[in-house]
Amino acid sequence: MATIGINIATGSLQQKEMIVGIDLGTTNSLVAIIHPGSKEPVVLKEHDGAALVPSIVHFGEANSITVGDGAKQFLITEPHNTIFSVKRLMGKSYNDVKDQSAFFTYRIIDDNTESLVKIQAGSTFYSPVELSSFILKELKHRAEHILKTPVTKAVITVPAYFNDAQRQATRDAGRLAGLDVLRIVNEPTAASLAYGLGISREEVKTVAVYDLGGGTFDISILRISNGIFEVLSTNGDTYLGGDDFDRAIMDHWIKETGLTSEELNSNKSLLQELRLKAEEAKKFLSTSDSYNGIVAGHELSLDKEQFEKLVEPFVTKTIQNCKNALQDAGLAINDIDEVIMVGGSTRVPLVRRSVGKFFGKKVHDSLNPDEVVALGAAVQADILAGNNKDFLLLDITPLSLGIETMGGLMDVMIPRNSKIPSKAARQYTTQKDGQGSIRIAVFQGERDLVKDNRKLAEFNLTGIPGMPAGLPKVEVSFLVNADGILVVKAKELRSGIEQSIEVKPQYGLTDEEVEKMLADSITHAKDDMQTRALVEAQTEAKQIIDTTSQFINKNKTFLTGKEMSETTTAIQQLDDLIEKGNKDEIHTAIEKLNEISRPYAERLMDEAIGKAMKGKNIME
Ligand code: ADP
Ligand code: MG
Repeated sequence: MATIGINIATGSLQQKEMIVGIDLGTTNSLVAIIHPGSKEPVVLKEHDGAALVPSIVHFGEANSITVGDGAKQFLITEPHNTIFSVKRLMGKSYNDVKDQSAFFTYRIIDDNTESLVKIQAGSTFYSPVELSSFILKELKHRAEHILKTPVTKAVITVPAYFNDAQRQATRDAGRLAGLDVLRIVNEPTAASLAYGLGISREEVKTVAVYDLGGGTFDISILRISNGIFEVLSTNGDTYLGGDDFDRAIMDHWIKETGLTSEELNSNKSLLQELRLKAEEAKKFLSTSDSYNGIVAGHELSLDKEQFEKLVEPFVTKTIQNCKNALQDAGLAINDIDEVIMVGGSTRVPLVRRSVGKFFGKKVHDSLNPDEVVALGAAVQADILAGNNKDFLLLDITPLSLGIETMGGLMDVMIPRNSKIPSKAARQYTTQKDGQGSIRIAVFQGERDLVKDNRKLAEFNLTGIPGMPAGLPKVEVSFLVNADGILVVKAKELRSGIEQSIEVKPQYGLTDEEVEKMLADSITHAKDDMQTRALVEAQTEAKQIIDTTSQFINKNKTFLTGKEMSETTTAIQQLDDLIEKGNKDEIHTAIEKLNEISRPYAERLMDEAIGKAMKGKNIME
């Protein structure tokens, strides 16, 4: 598929199929590619050197939309029109997020239902998918501007714990932005790839990926073997990140300067400025020992020691999450071969030190931690473009998938931790005579009752022909494809024996048809064997009836009256049994007929032999 095209802007020859890797982050998003010259992953940067696009969308006058740094400055001054952290809302209903509503400064529509959330900005309602698509569109435009070529294909990363609804929402956002999303990849998997882990087929490694971003903390334990990435466990805190560090610094300064909360609330831009200074100080202290600044005439200062005291409680919490993740994976610290640092907040030296100390080894931190996920996505994109051997990437299902059965029970089709792609099918039937439809409700989770699990979808299979209860065979099949997206199908099957597949060689067979044929041959193997045994018995019976009938007709005078009547009765009985179709009864009747005919058959044989001897006179 590698077509060569001419770049109209530069006049140079180039490969048309540029697949980009995108890290669509809660705080920041960015794009990376494999550099056509060096073959190394690189992030795409604007002329000013900026690679990160803050994941923020601002709605201004006359429906103008600004994404990124331009939107960030409105966070505090125009909270209602400035949408941040939209990733937290992907694939969620209002009921899912209502406990966290205080976190969001913009309006989330409270419809108190399980349908997907909407966000109000001005007089317009937006879905998280649309909002994410604005961010992706911005990334796409930047990439096209930098690469001077159209960008239509992408790999997008998501947290390992994202469920199917969240993955699907991410994919939809890509499509809405005009991107063909070739693969959804787990962030820790991408980070491992960026460090070259799992590239070699022979490699077997257990990897801990520590990802401390702006507002979230994730720790993932992966097992890599034969190029397959399995998520052994995930843990973390969806409300812990660099933002907490900023807030801790702000609170510290507010105390120091004696600024009151009334003062700050009445002057939103002062608050905004303080927040930006806090982030600036935090970043500065990652490489320096002390920071000094000024806000509205107030002198601000912070040294490294003070900063570390402020953030230590947060870091300690993340270490506890690491312990939990290890425990869930059933592993000890010594089982971890590699530790990878991901997320801008791991630039804080205290974080690196603490994580290194906990795992007792040197951590991977040579790549920029806020770029490593995008870099790995580019590596994956390159693999998909076919430039990287026959590499296969597999993840696992984070939660069990199943359907609701009688009594609201969860019937698991694909257990959690199944390798993907993965599929499963099971048969169900109707409960009422003439029932024309059956409801399929799909759930995700580990609990026995579906009400305790998460509903992903529901649909009705209608048009089932009228049959007594229990007769229709409804096959429900689950397929989790390589992107971790679930496809559920329900099908009413006709009785297996009469069913046949017409193979038209000119069309070829789809993989599914081939699989179905193989499956059918196994399912029906036993039936087929029994059918064959019966046909064999029937054939044998017909032959015996024929030969015996001919024999008694030819040799009427030779048989006693009793022998004659017994024989005709036995023939009649055997003949009746042929149609009844019980092979054992047929065999018994054949035996009986043989018993009856044996004495006169032997007599006749002796007679014939005697005659032959007479005529031939061989005793001479
Ligand atoms: P996310 O994955 O949540 O989108 P990132 O990985 O980009 O976010 O991390 C963003 C966070 O990293 C922000 O809180 C930012 O302030 C912080 N950060 C970025 N650079 C530094 C630095 N040099 N020192 C400390 N924190 C930093
Ligand atoms: Mg991130």
